[in-house]
Order: sequence, then C-alpha cells, then structure tokens
Amino acid sequence: MASLLAPLRLKKNEQRRLRAGHLWVFSNEVDIAHTPLSNFEPGQPVSIEESNGAVLGTGYVNPHSLISARLVSRDPGYVLDQSLLVHRLNIALSLRERLFDKPYYRLVYGEGDALPGLVVDRFGDVLVAQLTTAGMERVKAEVIAALQKVIKPRAIVLRNDTSGRALEGLPNYIETARGVVPELVRLEENGVLFDIPVLSGQKTGWFYDQRMNRARMQCYVKNRRVLDVFSYLGGWGVQAAAAGASEVVCVDSSQAALDQLRHNAALNHVAERVKALHSDAFAALKALRAERQKFDVVILDPPAFIKRKKDLKQGLQAYHQLNQMAMQVLAKDGVLISASCSYHFEASALQDVLLQTSRHLDRNLQILEQGQQGPDHPIHPAIPETRYLKAFFTRVYLAGR
Ligand code: SAH
Repeated sequence: MASLLAPLRLKKNEQRRLRAGHLWVFSNEVDIAHTPLSNFEPGQPVSIEESNGAVLGTGYVNPHSLISARLVSRDPGYVLDQSLLVHRLNIALSLRERLFDKPYYRLVYGEGDALPGLVVDRFGDVLVAQLTTAGMERVKAEVIAALQKVIKPRAIVLRNDTSGRALEGLPNYIETARGVVPELVRLEENGVLFDIPVLSGQKTGWFYDQRMNRARMQCYVKNRRVLDVFSYLGGWGVQAAAAGASEVVCVDSSQAALDQLRHNAALNHVAERVKALHSDAFAALKALRAERQKFDVVILDPPAFIKRKKDLKQGLQAYHQLNQMAMQVLAKDGVLISASCSYHFEASALQDVLLQTSRHLDRNLQILEQGQQGPDHPIHPAIPETRYLKAFFTRVYLAGR
C-alpha cells in the first residue's frame, strides 16, 4: 500500500531520532530539494524515507506546521485507515479496561497511544474527541466509524476547539458527530460523581489527568479545612469534601464552572461543606490573607501559564506569586498541593519555585509525594512533550529553634 504513497525524504542522518523511537519529523529535517514540502497537502499520507531511500514507515504530512510529518506505522504496509484506527483503539481500550472498573477515562492520548493527533475522553457511553492535526482531521470519518465500532457509544462529540489547531492551519469547531449529546454527562472518579457539560466545558469537559493525584489528596483532608484554587467543576474540592474535609472553599473566575461545582457538591451530599468563591485566584488569595483565613490544605491546579517557550518569564512569575500566596494562607504545618500542566515548566523548576518561596517566607518545605498524569495518559518515552503534568504534595512548616 505504501508504494502508492508519495515519499517524504529525510536529510542524511535525520532518521536517527525516528529510529530511536520518536514519531515526529521537523521541517528542517526534510530533504526539500528531493521532496519539497510545498508539494504536499495538509494531512496527506506519505511514505517516510531515509536519505538513501530506505522506507522508515508511513505517516502524514503538514507542510504548514513545524512538525512536518508524524510517523503512523513503522510497517510500510499500514496507513492511517479505519482498520488501523480500530486496531489501535482496541489496544488503547485494553489498557483502560485493565486499569479501571468503570468506563470513565481518557481512552486515547495521542502519540502516547500511537495515535498522533487524536485525543478521546470517555464518559460512559459518550465520547468526546479532539482531532489536533491535519492528518487526523483528514480521516475524521474513519475516526468516527472506528470509535463507533470499538466502543458503540450513544454519542460522539468533537471538541475541535483546541489552541493547537491554528498551528496546523485548521479551523476550530464543536460538533456532535454521532447521536444526541445530553447537556450534562455523568462520570465517576475515585468514588465521587460529577455531572459535566461536555459541549461548553473546558477542553473535553473534564481533566482526567489528575485522577491519581486527587486520590492521593483524599488522604490529607479528613476533618481539615481545604482551599481549592482554580477549582473548575470541583474535581479536587468536591472530592476533598467527599473524603471528609470539614470545609472546602473553591475559587474560580468562571461563574458557570462554580454553578456546576455546586451541583456536583449536592450530587455527592456534601453541599453544606463546600463553598464557591467567584473570583480571580490572585485576588481571592490576597483577600483571604487579608482576612487572616487559614487552610490546612491548599490545592493549586491552575491552567497552563506557560503554553509556549516565550511565556516562560511571565509564567514563572505567576507560579512564584501563586505559590507564595498559597503558603501565606496555609495553617501551621499545612499541606500545599501544587500542580502545573505546563510542559515547558519542568518538575525541577516547580520544585525550585516551591523551595524559594518557602525560604522567602522563612518556612521549611518537605516534599511528601510527587505525582504526574495518570496512566490513561501514557507517556511516550521518546517524546518529552507527552509528559506534562506534575503535582507536588508538600508540607510547609516552621522549624522553630
Ligand atoms: N483544577 C481543575 C482544572 C483547572 S482548569 C480540575 O481539577 O478540574 C482551569 C480553571 O481555572 C478554569 O475553571 C478557569 O475558569 C479557571 N481560571 C483561569 N484563570 C483563572 C484566574 N485567574 N482566577 C481564577 N480562576 C481562573
């Protein structure tokens, strides 16, 4: 089959990273004298070749992107068609079925599941997919058909409103590709129920990546006062209340998110212990400090402040400021759970922020645990970008003499 595909030739020695496991070809690695990128349509399937013509495998191209091509199969006999999609979906599904009793998880995590350009979250019999590359968009019909075949869902939503699509030259849109999507979809995480708006929520509607960290959080909160900053629908806060926190204050700048959070608190019979504070996080932390409020556990799970390398300086400052303000409202011997989902901000950088901040406030810091994205977001060991989430569980204390 690959013989029918147009070749994309690499420059000399540029096959090494791919041979070592990576799936991406960058634009400067393409032998454009031999195979000009301008000859390809966005998303076009290709046969990826070494400089000597040896076939590396099949993939797809986007001449407009810095990532010019993504390897789909090392076997030249396979292209990204419905049959390969079904095969890879089944492999992805078998991992999740091994991990979880109930059908609430990230079913497909792009390159981590050998499906570059595809993300699918599963909420029981509703699937929410994101096609993030031109190559995946091109096989949209096959993706939908493959999902239908493997999962037999009641509905499939495309949340193709991700920031990365612009880089691929793709328009943003939200579409119900199959079935009828209810306004709210129910999921269960760590024994706690959530109703989420998949059409209007953030990203796919839910952040499954924090599941394991939220489970660990439950061990720290019983009979404690908890502050959940950037709470969204209550992933942390409502779970903290369900795990026995005496009081939880959830802060978010989105009223819609907080309304849904209140609904979720009621759904789990913890509404009387959950308060929603509609505010900018920085302003709320400042006000709570001014009121001399103290929390035994503070959770900081902000949106990515560093989306691109150029955001580094400003983002670093935001992480500093936030973590400092969080420590300032921590009770004696308080626990700070501090997360970052910015790929460009490494775990060691977040640890430095936590250490520097604690020293600045003349406190001691202990790292108790370090979490990452859950196993339904499998990391591709050759592609550092697939590892992005970190969560430090720390205790901040005064050593005294
Ligand atoms: N902690 C959440 C995920 C955070 S998503 C979870 O576990 O599911 C980011 C959330 O931060 C969104 O709900 C968004 O409304 C909120 N947000 C973004 N900027 C904010 C700001 N400056 N102050 C308060 N909330 C903010």
